Amino acid sequence: MTDFPSPSDRPRTASSAAFRLFRPVLFAVAIIGVTVGTVIVMHHHPVPEVATAAPVAPPAIALPDPEPAPPITSDDFKGFDLKPADQQAADGADQPVSDRYELTLRLERGDTVEKVLADINVAEAARKQIGDKLKSLLKKRRLPVGEAIDLQLQTLPDQTDVPRVLVLSIRPQPQREYIVARRDDGSYDAQEKTYKVSPRIVRVDAIRRGSLQQSGAKAGAPTPAILEFIRALSYDVDFQRELKEGQHFTLLLEQQVTSDGHVADPGRLLAGELQLAKRTVTVIRFRPQSGADGFYDPKGESVVRSFLRTPMDASHITSGFGMRMHPILGFSAMHTGVDFGAPIGTPIFAAGAGKVVMAGPNAGYGIYVKLQHTSQIGTGYGHMSRLGPGIRPGVSVRQGQVIGFVGSTGLSTGPHLHYEFYRNGHPVNPLTQKFAMRAALAGKDLARFRVLSRQYLHELKSAPPIAQALAPAAAKAKEPAAAQFARDE
Ligand SMILES: [Zn+2]
Repeated sequence: MTDFPSPSDRPRTASSAAFRLFRPVLFAVAIIGVTVGTVIVMHHHPVPEVATAAPVAPPAIALPDPEPAPPITSDDFKGFDLKPADQQAADGADQPVSDRYELTLRLERGDTVEKVLADINVAEAARKQIGDKLKSLLKKRRLPVGEAIDLQLQTLPDQTDVPRVLVLSIRPQPQREYIVARRDDGSYDAQEKTYKVSPRIVRVDAIRRGSLQQSGAKAGAPTPAILEFIRALSYDVDFQRELKEGQHFTLLLEQQVTSDGHVADPGRLLAGELQLAKRTVTVIRFRPQSGADGFYDPKGESVVRSFLRTPMDASHITSGFGMRMHPILGFSAMHTGVDFGAPIGTPIFAAGAGKVVMAGPNAGYGIYVKLQHTSQIGTGYGHMSRLGPGIRPGVSVRQGQVIGFVGSTGLSTGPHLHYEFYRNGHPVNPLTQKFAMRAALAGKDLARFRVLSRQYLHELKSAPPIAQALAPAAAKAKEPAAAQFARDE
């Protein structure tokens, strides 16, 4: 920077009339050069060269002579002067526009509240007092990274760059707020404020675009509630074939809200409804007298089935149950199971809890596993490439445990699972067995459930939408304080 002549020096080093004419252009070039901060560039374009070789026509309009321009210093190019308009006004006027403002800062890694206050220039004595008061409030509790510190500050006329903290408040939980406030005598007072929490029923209406989870989240539902909904549906809904874009679903949530409108709990799923092409699936949370709460259909049957709908993920039926022309044997025969096409190695799950009664090669079935679930019910799995870990006759399996992997062993034309369902020793169609295997509510539980179910079904249509319920909280945004911060810095 030092070996570059400042504009005011330049007339002494150049004498031609052409230079005088181009001086405004040079001045602009100089500014660009300095702004970019490359002195080297200027060395490659010495002043006289630029002046004589420039092919541009002289400017038609006479540019103002930059002669009175002060020497350029690096300070001129540091960026925009962010001196607040308020303060500029205050400098010249007798009355400042406003001496109080709000500011929200967030704790960063390794931060303390005192450090944050030091960053904005709060006087050391005040910092220490506030820090001590806050410590006594928080006791041993630690504030997490990202915690918001709400400040009400005051600018003093004699010390404009040292703000006075009027109120500092931190609200680590919606129902609890820690406040340190300045008294008139300059000392600070600590206070813990608690807010009463009460439930509020809201509904989330969503249209499926992409996944159920994303669509629900976009509509404002908390993720745990959506996942619970999906899990409750999964026993009954075939997500691959029944789910379509644009389908409508509704969640009924119970939120916990503080007396001043803060959401303490974003919502527990009470009920949910999914409208499929041909039917509407509704799940309702209920806790029977003896047992944990779970989801039930409106008739009071548990959504949880004793058996999985299909013993595999991502499978499609390649051959149904019943009479058919056998692809290898070449004659019409009873197909005693359902075939699911899937790539070799796809895990096969135990459809229900039970005991392994057969595991290994079994003629045309290839590698085969048979499970006995109850004295009447059994399931069979054929054409496996191999058995699951630890699967041998006599061992017990849990529902969903991997009992083998898809293959094409035995009389098989390609990789698939041949899945059989036995009732009292006779093969029946596995796909029509689901209804009989769900726990149903009875007696007092059922009576209680009916009342609740009627209420929830009504509220699924009539409860206030979550967007509306959230509106007051959203209105109390922190943006104004943040903007103020940018301006005052
Ligand atoms: Zn088959």
